[in-house]
Amino acid sequence: MDEQSLTGFYPHILEQAANAVVVVDENDKVILFNSAAEQLWARARNEVLGAGISQLMPPMKEGQQTLMPGQSELDHLVGHNVELPIERPNNTRVWAEISVSRIQAEDETMRLVVAKNITLTKVHKAFRYQVLRAMAQTDSLTDVMTRLCQEIERIAPEISATVVRIDASGHLRPLVAPDFPSEHACLIDGIEIGPKISSQAIAAFRGEPVLVRDIEHDPGWYIGRQETLALGYKACWSVPIKTHEGSTIGILSFYYRVCRRPNKLHARLAEIAVSLCVLAMERADAFARIHHLAFFDDLTGLPNRSLLQIQANQAISQATRNNERLAVLFIDVDRFKQVNDSLGHPAGDILLRTVSARLREAIREVDILGRYSGDEFVIVLTQCDSVHAVELAGRLLAVLSAPCRIGEVTLNPAASIGISLFPDNGRDMDALIHEADMAMYQAKQKGRGCFSFFSGQLNQIAKERLTLETALRDAISSNELEIYYQPQINIESHQLHGVEALVRWNSTQLGKVAPERFIPLAEESNLISSLSQWVLNEACRQLAQWRQHGFAIPSISVNLSPADFQNLNLKLPQYLEAILRSHGLQPGDLLVEITEGVLMDSNPGTMRTLHEIHALGVRLSIDDFGTGYSSLGYLRHLPVHELKLDQSFVRDLDHDRATRALTNAVMHIGDSMELTVVAEGVEHPTQRNLLKAQGYQIIQGYLFSPPLPPTALERWLDENMSFTQWE
Ligand code: C2E
Ligand code: MG
Ligand code: MG
Repeated sequence: MDEQSLTGFYPHILEQAANAVVVVDENDKVILFNSAAEQLWARARNEVLGAGISQLMPPMKEGQQTLMPGQSELDHLVGHNVELPIERPNNTRVWAEISVSRIQAEDETMRLVVAKNITLTKVHKAFRYQVLRAMAQTDSLTDVMTRLCQEIERIAPEISATVVRIDASGHLRPLVAPDFPSEHACLIDGIEIGPKISSQAIAAFRGEPVLVRDIEHDPGWYIGRQETLALGYKACWSVPIKTHEGSTIGILSFYYRVCRRPNKLHARLAEIAVSLCVLAMERADAFARIHHLAFFDDLTGLPNRSLLQIQANQAISQATRNNERLAVLFIDVDRFKQVNDSLGHPAGDILLRTVSARLREAIREVDILGRYSGDEFVIVLTQCDSVHAVELAGRLLAVLSAPCRIGEVTLNPAASIGISLFPDNGRDMDALIHEADMAMYQAKQKGRGCFSFFSGQLNQIAKERLTLETALRDAISSNELEIYYQPQINIESHQLHGVEALVRWNSTQLGKVAPERFIPLAEESNLISSLSQWVLNEACRQLAQWRQHGFAIPSISVNLSPADFQNLNLKLPQYLEAILRSHGLQPGDLLVEITEGVLMDSNPGTMRTLHEIHALGVRLSIDDFGTGYSSLGYLRHLPVHELKLDQSFVRDLDHDRATRALTNAVMHIGDSMELTVVAEGVEHPTQRNLLKAQGYQIIQGYLFSPPLPPTALERWLDENMSFTQWE
């Protein structure tokens, strides 16, 4: 067919066009109204033809009412695409996109109106806008979802919309159902997704929309069927809400009051709603994750310090209001660092998780538990007095000490607990935690696995401790420490056996501080390794210098702390080797004094270090021998070279037979194992004589010399080592 012959078909073409076509004459009377126009305006052609165009269009803007001859009401629309609302006689409204053009036919100017129904697009835009606006206004997922359902119901009043979530274990969790009574949620809550039961469960199971057209007669067993029917709902269409990765996280359902299927509008609404649900749910999850990260400890899942503080403060406010008491427990895992250092951080993590789980098990629902830092936990016991606190602390220590298997190793975890009470010890949480911390510290000193209550005296001690710690830190860095040297004499050969290096601190601020006071402090406050390094270096430097100056000093003994062996960062053997080398000394020039505490350390790292030091050629000496609780059997397996009889035995020698029997036994042990035995703290000739009679050869004590500064020791050597008579 050519164009010429097509002309005859124009009326048919117009009639069948998808868009509404309206033609008006120069008097604005409708002269053509196609079938799409009938549908759009919901009006029959014969009603409209011959009538004015104004009945089809919304009123024009003011100021444009008077028309000049030859003008049309539609002229202001010519050349534009406009979106206009169209009110229909059946009281419904549609949106149309309208374009108007002038057409010239012979000497008459007509207007051609082409209109397209854009209601769906328009509705969707508005819908999306409303829901997004809700999202911007509130963080609450329930509020956003409620708005979403309400918007759906506003656009399509025949729908009652609901949203359920699917939890991690695959169960339905009702989220919103604005049109339903709240009891309805209980019917759905906890339903497992599966091929039956409810349209939601099935939709979640299949991952695709499910229509139950007739709830009453649906063959699948339908939980809450009667209740749903009683509310007047007959059909339900459920659409899965899927993430971008394709997992179903929820279900959007449209309930209908008649048995039916969704229409095109419903399908479009569902499509948009589902994409908005994904957005809102993922956003809520992200918020929850951020919240969790900000307030919970990743490792143990417990509240972190911030949340703990918040919860604890709430507990205090409540206790104040109700005139109740509460207790704060500060719990520190014993020897945690050791586990971390020797078994590695993953093992440390397992221990912390075990401890936190055991603590959680042991407390009541109303109590507050949080991870304070590292290996420290805080529990706030509400409505709790000192009696209950003691009870619980005892129980906690017991449950914590149950064996815990980590890989190949079985540990018996222990903790020290400090307790402070509200309102007796303080009225705010910071103070109470601080006091419980101090009490915990005291518990640690009592021995591991103990608890202790806070007292005012403790506070004073803690303050002094802090001053001392700060001063000691400065002393180490500013060379305020010195070393005194005490000679050890061989009373058989009358020769100098060696010297022991003993650190001294004459603080400008605090005066003389005894090593018994500052060494334990250094051990607890992590200052010990810098102190030990300083002493080792200085003692070796001094020995090298003495040798250069011609003083025949066979060896130097340096005291090290258990902590030095637990500190794997220090790499003690390598450090010793480097120090000796830097001062031009031989490994045999140095003895390292350790206490039985080091030897009793079950830590495999410590044993390795001892063997490495021995292999290096540096000798090991057991200080204060006889005061520890260890069995003698272990001595056989250790690379030890020397025993130092503890001073307390020497002190009691001349008036206590039992002590004499003990010192005799120590001598025999040393002899039989071919170890050098040194008696220290010898002050009187009677003590020396008794020891000598038992076979002791090496003596250290005031009888010969107190520890001396280097120059004084040089004088002492000059004066005394030339004599051979020591009796
Ligand atoms: P220790 O290693 O058992 O040292 C012997 C202590 O006995 C020294 O006390 C010494 O001055 C004292 N003493 C020596 N002869 C006599 C005596 O005849 N009678 C009495 N009553 N006491 C005597 P000091 O210097 O106060 O040191 C005490 C403890 O501090 C040492 O005991 C040692 O465990 C520790 N210490 C000292 N210097 C260091 C050091 O550089 N590092 C480490 N980690 N600990 C050290
Ligand atoms: Mg010593
Ligand atoms: Mg000693």
